[in-house]
Amino acid sequence: MKLLDKTKTLVCLSGGQDSVTCLMEAAQTGGGTYAVSFNYGQRHSIELDCAAQAAKILKTAGYYALDIPALRQIGGSALLTGGDLNERRDGLPASFVPGRNAIFLAQAAALAYQLNCGRLVTGVSETDYSGYPDCREYTIKFLEAALNAAMETDLEIAAPLMRKTKAETWTMAYQYRVPPFDRADKQYGAELIREHTHTCYRGDRTVRHDWGYGCGECPACLLRRRGYAEFIGALK
Ligand SMILES: [Zn+2]
Repeated sequence: MKLLDKTKTLVCLSGGQDSVTCLMEAAQTGGGTYAVSFNYGQRHSIELDCAAQAAKILKTAGYYALDIPALRQIGGSALLTGGDLNERRDGLPASFVPGRNAIFLAQAAALAYQLNCGRLVTGVSETDYSGYPDCREYTIKFLEAALNAAMETDLEIAAPLMRKTKAETWTMAYQYRVPPFDRADKQYGAELIREHTHTCYRGDRTVRHDWGYGCGECPACLLRRRGYAEFIGALK
């Protein structure tokens, strides 16, 4: 059995609000922090640009961008093939990519093995989302058990945002003082989220709102916008 180094963390980094908040949290711990992103043919590359930028700002020990073209070949999601993102199919949002998190976590676990990271962090949450089954706690627990069995390791898969709302995730970012985002007037780490993360399904970065860039109307923007409003309301 390979005993992995528990002080070293690998964060799955999509470039969205949740995963960048997880990276900020991991960067506070002092052990080696690494980040991995996946290029799977998503509609736009803005998220990946944000991920690379956040990894650089947070001084990660290593940043990896892995190509997973098979997801696009398989298709079936409005995120990959176009179509109405507000639709629902088989009781799930049209943006659902079947198998995505299972595939990502398997790849990330293999990378964690190579980097000797004992902790793998994913930003999934079952609180706010529209019920993606691969964001639920039991899925993550089963994947952790399966991957450890497959590699003979003691890897921990942590999901620190599992029970957090979007407003609570904004509050987490607000607590971090990461240079140059250590200014009270910019709301500390919340400014890093605003400036260097991307959530909008349409890839719209033409307007900067107080909650960040985006069209303000797609399901991802709505969730982020409402979470920010709740966070600001609680601050006052
Ligand atoms: Zn949007």
